[in-house]
Amino acid sequence: MNTGICSFCKKENVEVIKTRIRGNIVDICSECVEEALSLIGTNSLENNIEENTPVKLKSPEEIKNFLDEYIIGLNEIKKILSVGVYNHYLIINQDNKDEDVVIEKSNILLIGDTGSGKTYIARILAKILNVPFCIADATSLTEAGYVGEDVESVITRLLQVAKNNIKLAQKGIVYIDEIDKISRKGENVSITRDVSGEGVQQALLKLLEGTIVNVSPDIGRRNPEQKYVQVDTSKILFICGGSFEGLEKYVEEREKRTTLGFNNNKYDVNDKDTRYSLLKNVAVEDLRKYGIIPELIGRLPIIGVLDKIDKESLIKILKEPKNSIIKQYQKLFSLYGTTLNITDNALDIIADNAIKLKTGARGLRSICEKIFMDLMYNTASNKRTDEINIDEEFVKKILMKHEGNICKKL
Ligand code: ADP
Repeated sequence: MNTGICSFCKKENVEVIKTRIRGNIVDICSECVEEALSLIGTNSLENNIEENTPVKLKSPEEIKNFLDEYIIGLNEIKKILSVGVYNHYLIINQDNKDEDVVIEKSNILLIGDTGSGKTYIARILAKILNVPFCIADATSLTEAGYVGEDVESVITRLLQVAKNNIKLAQKGIVYIDEIDKISRKGENVSITRDVSGEGVQQALLKLLEGTIVNVSPDIGRRNPEQKYVQVDTSKILFICGGSFEGLEKYVEEREKRTTLGFNNNKYDVNDKDTRYSLLKNVAVEDLRKYGIIPELIGRLPIIGVLDKIDKESLIKILKEPKNSIIKQYQKLFSLYGTTLNITDNALDIIADNAIKLKTGARGLRSICEKIFMDLMYNTASNKRTDEINIDEEFVKKILMKHEGNICKKL
């Protein structure tokens, strides 16, 4: 780089880069470089509209087999999702515009406690299909015009993940978490309208139904004149998830009504097993009573209820999936030059503690961080040993040190 005259804007005494364009050596200043880049960015977006590579389709069986490598249990959900996702991409890969029969898009609703794997399964699906994926939290979204993130910002994020490739973004998957938290507070108390929740639901409905959203692809770049680009959401697959605490009450009430009172007091609603057996029978009416507007429920025709995560599944989650937490630590320690072994009894104690945290499989990671922190510190700081063996006693000792996370059994 040297100081000279920019061959493009002709400004003098500027820092220029020497570059070769069509055989000529020319000088270009940083301002012109930025302008050129922004032009290339805009043009490449327009060019991408012409691209039309179909999503490489895998059969439901292939999708399920792939999910099996990463996800423990949840067999029913895996089947439902494999077929749902296969159908979705089969339909959008067709280019039939004037068909008599138009198959409607089937977005998905996942119901399950925190840490039951809702986000994870959506993420793995996107990975199998190699389509852009992003996560949004419904509670942070607002209707247009209110303070907060517009619903459209979800599409901006998806476009960024798709590296501004509009065609690709239009085939992506969006996971909207905490959808239950934007419910009206129950059908029966609708007089005290929860405007924000319902407003966000209405705004989301438009995205799920399919609409054209104007998004600025260049968030983060200093370019106030950036063009808006249009993204069509009609082929984006939306997966919504929520824990829907208390939804089981509506299922129970409906079941009681439909069985003419014979079922009185059959269920203890505080019991998790009961909650899950009730949720397996969830119906559209129950979701409406919970406060999800009927139009939105109508746009989420595939409903999957995840299984309760018990201790056995937690242990499996720790060690079995391709990318399991323990395998990740073992890999990390192998990078330090050490072999990490952990006994089944030690895993048992970790699972016990995760159950106490009541955050499903999410708790496993934070417990493991506590267990491995000092070991990572020491091993990575050159105090290397060939082998580290973690047993029950070691885990108990570490967890005893951490307040609020003590296993009473210890
Ligand atoms: P949710 O979205 O239901 O609150 P997550 O999908 O975020 O829960 O799950 C938290 C973590 O727990 C995931 O990142 C994943 O590592 C692990 N996990 C949860 N369920 C499973 C499962 N069935 N198999 C494998 N890992 C799981």
